[in-house]
Parts: sequence; structure tokens; C-alpha cells
Amino acid sequence: MRFGVAGAGFSGAVIARELADAGHEVTVLECRDHVAGNCHTERDPQTQVLVHRYGPHIFHTGNERVWSYINRFGVLLPYYHRVRTTVGGRVYLLPVNLLTINQLFQTALNPDQARAFIAEQADSSIEVPRNFEEQALKLMGRRLYEAFFLGYTRKQWGLEPNEIPASVLRRLPLRFTYEDSYFSHPHQGMPRDGYTAIVSAILDHPLIEVRLSTPYAAADRDAFDHSIWTGPLDDWFEHRYGRLGYRTLDFEEIRATGDFLGCAVMNYGDLDVPYTRITEHKYLAPWEEHTDTVCIRETSRLAGEGDIPYYPIRLAADQRTLRRYLDAARSASGVTFAGRLGTYRYLDMDVTIAEALATADRILAGIDSGGRI
Ligand code: UDP
Repeated sequence: MRFGVAGAGFSGAVIARELADAGHEVTVLECRDHVAGNCHTERDPQTQVLVHRYGPHIFHTGNERVWSYINRFGVLLPYYHRVRTTVGGRVYLLPVNLLTINQLFQTALNPDQARAFIAEQADSSIEVPRNFEEQALKLMGRRLYEAFFLGYTRKQWGLEPNEIPASVLRRLPLRFTYEDSYFSHPHQGMPRDGYTAIVSAILDHPLIEVRLSTPYAAADRDAFDHSIWTGPLDDWFEHRYGRLGYRTLDFEEIRATGDFLGCAVMNYGDLDVPYTRITEHKYLAPWEEHTDTVCIRETSRLAGEGDIPYYPIRLAADQRTLRRYLDAARSASGVTFAGRLGTYRYLDMDVTIAEALATADRILAGIDSGGRI
């Protein structure tokens, strides 16, 4: 069969590769001038620092199939992400751990004492948290929530935390030890040559043709036996039920000699600081040596037409609109929707790859059984 894939991020690339490995011809159309979507990395021409163009991406997974898959296409070096946050003129460690707790409360609690102390602060009247704020109050109590999450979350989402799903906070652990690694997965790493090299290697197959700077036009839908759409779900349907809400990011570069932050990522939790975080990119590849540095400051805002979508907002109104698009997607023929944008979910890279592999399996099984794909 001849497949057309819209988008050369992880979803599109992995599905394209699996289909090509099974002997199908695949054309990947990518509207930007590079592959890898928002994971795109490139060397800064002045400093040679490997820059994550659309914000820091750290690979972490507990999925063995995904870990061995990504290791087939590039070298991942050990990297444990650590994040600091500046709040009220002081610097703390994230995710919230024993040092964060002891610093904020000016205590010297051990793990058991800290657990009991936080349990006293936590709101035990909340049984099933209905939103981000309730999740935070139930987990850690008001003081920690207000210090580290309230301001940052308002800036990041442009919403009150009680309007945001509880699942957004569940991304982060709360630890009663001094372990400050941002993620807890058994496999964590950073591609030595960047994500773009990995995605290019995935797409490097004689049956795959990649066309950059080429949007997937309406005519392309008929040119292939089947389309894989990894762009925004509502774009495919030409926004017939309205637009799904996304947050987009504005980036501002900072250059300095030597070090600027002294760590990979510094978050800023105070509302009077407009940006959410700064990334010092050389610390995302700590095995490299650079005398100069390049940092990128991120500010979040509601995505308008033409802006790059980053985070699906998933407010109640979006959920209603989403249900209509999902119904339309289920009954649409000749197309499969995949990825963060294609399914309107807040997915990490490993989940994206796992789902892309499963989607390709399903398509191939459908072809084999002569059924609908
Ligand atoms: N968050 C926060 N303060 C922080 C870091 C994160 O309030 O210093 C909240 C924020 O709402 C964010 C969510 O926790 O959207 C998940 O954080 P994560 O680091 O997973 O966000 P990402 O890296 O995907 O932007």
C-alpha cells in the first residue's frame, strides 16, 4: 500500500518506519523545514551548543520496547534531569523532595517526620481530586502548593489551577528523600547527537520519502491509499466544530560567557516574573565542554492561528469539542490519527513512541486480515 504521513515528529516517523519495514511505500510530508517536530535539536552556530529549539526534552521511560527501539537509532548517554525553582528570592530543588520541604519550612525533618508533617498539612477531606488544585492540596497541603505550583501553573496554563485537570500535577512526584532526579523511570537518557539525528535515522529507509516544508494538502488525502495524521486533530476537519485550545510558547535567547544559570533548567514560580523557566542548553549535554553558553527563556500564552501548538488545554469546553472530533475521527475512513496533536493529549515522548508502535501494529494487522484500517 501507499501511505501518506502528515508530520515528521516521533509519531509520524515511528509509524512510517514500521510500515516501511513491512514493505509499504511511505511519503512523509512535514510542513516545517526539519524533522523531529517539537523535539528538534540543532547546534547553535556560534557556540556549537546542542539546542532544544522548542524547549527541553528529556527521554525517560519504563517501557522496555520503547527503550530498545530508541536505542536502535542513536546513542543515548546517561542523563538525570534536575530542575531548580526560584520563588520569593530563594532557590529550591524540584520535584518537591526532603530538601525542598526542609528549606521551605526551615526544618531538619527526616523522611518519616516529613511524611507525617506533610500529612498534617494535606487536605484529607478531598477524596477524589477533581482538579489540579485539589490534587495539590490533598497531596502536599496549601503552603507547598502556593509556593511552587500556584504561580507557575497560572503562568503556564493562563488558568486557575482549579480549572486544570488533576492529571497535570500527577506528572510530578513528591519525595520524602533527598533524591532530586526530576523523573523516576528506570531508563533515562539524552541522545548524544540530539533528537533530530534519531528521528532522521528512524526515517532513513529506502521505502520512505520525506518532503520538508510541505504541508499535507487536501489533495494529498486522495493521493495515498491511507493517511496518517499527526497534526492537530481539528485541523484535519477544517475546524468544523470549532478550535481546540492549545498553549504556545515564546522563546527568548540569552547569551553569556561561562555559565548563566549553572544548571539545565530553572523554573520561576513567582507571578511577577513573566516567564516560566529558563533552560541552559549545555547542561542538557553535560559531557560536552563549552566556554560560552546559550539559554532560552520560555513564556507561555494561548495559541492563536498560526502559532505552534504545544500543550492541549483540555478545559471542559475543549472536552466537549474534542468528543465531537473523536466521533468524527472514528467514523472517518482512509485516515488514522496519532500523537500529541492528532489525539489532543499531553503525551511524553516515550508514550508517543509506544502508541505509534501500537498504531502501526494495528494498521498492519488490519491489512493482513483484509479488514478496515
Ligand atoms: N508545575 C508547577 N511548578 C513547577 C513545575 C511544574 O506548578 O515548578 C506544574 C505546571 O502546572 C506544569 C505541571 O506541573 O504544567 C507539570 O510539570 P512538567 O514539568 O511535567 O511540565 P512540562 O515539562 O511538560 O512543561
